Amino acid sequence: MDERALISTFFDRRPAAGRPARPDVILGIGDDAAVLRLDPGFDLVVATDSIAEGTHFPAGTPAASVGHRCLAVNLSDIAAMAAEPLWFSLALSLPESDEAWVGEFARGLFELADRFGVELVGGDTVRGPLGATVTIQGRARPGRTVLRSGAAPGDGVWVTGHPGDAVAGRLLLPEPASDPAAEALRQRFLYPEPRVREGMALAGVATAMLDVSDGLDDDLRKLLAASGVGAEMDAGVLPLSDELRSIRAGTALECALTGGDDYELCFTVRSADEPQLRAIATAWPVPVTRIGTVVPGAGCRWRLRGQALAVPDTTYRHF
Ligand code: ADP
Ligand code: MG
Repeated sequence: MDERALISTFFDRRPAAGRPARPDVILGIGDDAAVLRLDPGFDLVVATDSIAEGTHFPAGTPAASVGHRCLAVNLSDIAAMAAEPLWFSLALSLPESDEAWVGEFARGLFELADRFGVELVGGDTVRGPLGATVTIQGRARPGRTVLRSGAAPGDGVWVTGHPGDAVAGRLLLPEPASDPAAEALRQRFLYPEPRVREGMALAGVATAMLDVSDGLDDDLRKLLAASGVGAEMDAGVLPLSDELRSIRAGTALECALTGGDDYELCFTVRSADEPQLRAIATAWPVPVTRIGTVVPGAGCRWRLRGQALAVPDTTYRHF
């Protein structure tokens, strides 16, 4: 199959019955560029993230997972701005024209896209090392985005979900696991759920926010640095999942502190707004946990049962 046939077979879904294109997509796939209509009164919010075989996922990762993850990581960035995702484009690099692989990739991609109502409006398809780059556009009311830079002393530090599951799952790839707890962790790496609705609900509530892609400690430090503050953190209250505790008994805490790929949200909330946060979060499918407090100064100090806890710097550096 050549490039054109791959695009029309797997990515151009315009004529498909029962699949209404977004009305704000004036022109989607097929021309030199897409034409998109932004409603008046909104700012455009744009993010790009790439995933590459060998760097972000190991060889042998199911194609549906690669399709899911290349969009999920971008939805997560839009969520972390408290914005609403609308459209995305896809630059796909393939070592060969493997129809079965591309079909599964597209299935994983569109399953997630349809769930969040985002539309693929264009892209590029080239031969090269396996990888995918998505650029996503979203919208937010002016002044309603949540930046990394808004945390102030006294704010609580919060996290959604169960950090550490995804890295534990990645260590169990590629074969499916027979142990249900291990398989649940694998699924958390293969199919991370971007916290889109949760992020949007935090507009006007969170003072600062980012998504956890590189590890909780590492990403939290970025938020604190951007805000010019420090934090006192309690590792003893981290919401470790039962699966993580059972599969990585000795290293669960380390996974939660340093493991990446969770795509949970980490954010700060004024103490006075905590009741509002708790009320909003009752509708969420994931727990939300207060894990620390913003303080004047700089850096992130973790304690466990009263003792200072050193967190190793495990940040992945591409170069
Ligand atoms: P051009 O030569 O102008 O770059 P292409 O042949 O690369 O055009 O693409 C033709 C059309 O298909 C364009 O609308 C482009 O946005 C779209 N497209 C190409 N690859 C993809 C893809 N992987 N996913 C979605 N749309 C794609
Ligand atoms: Mg092109």
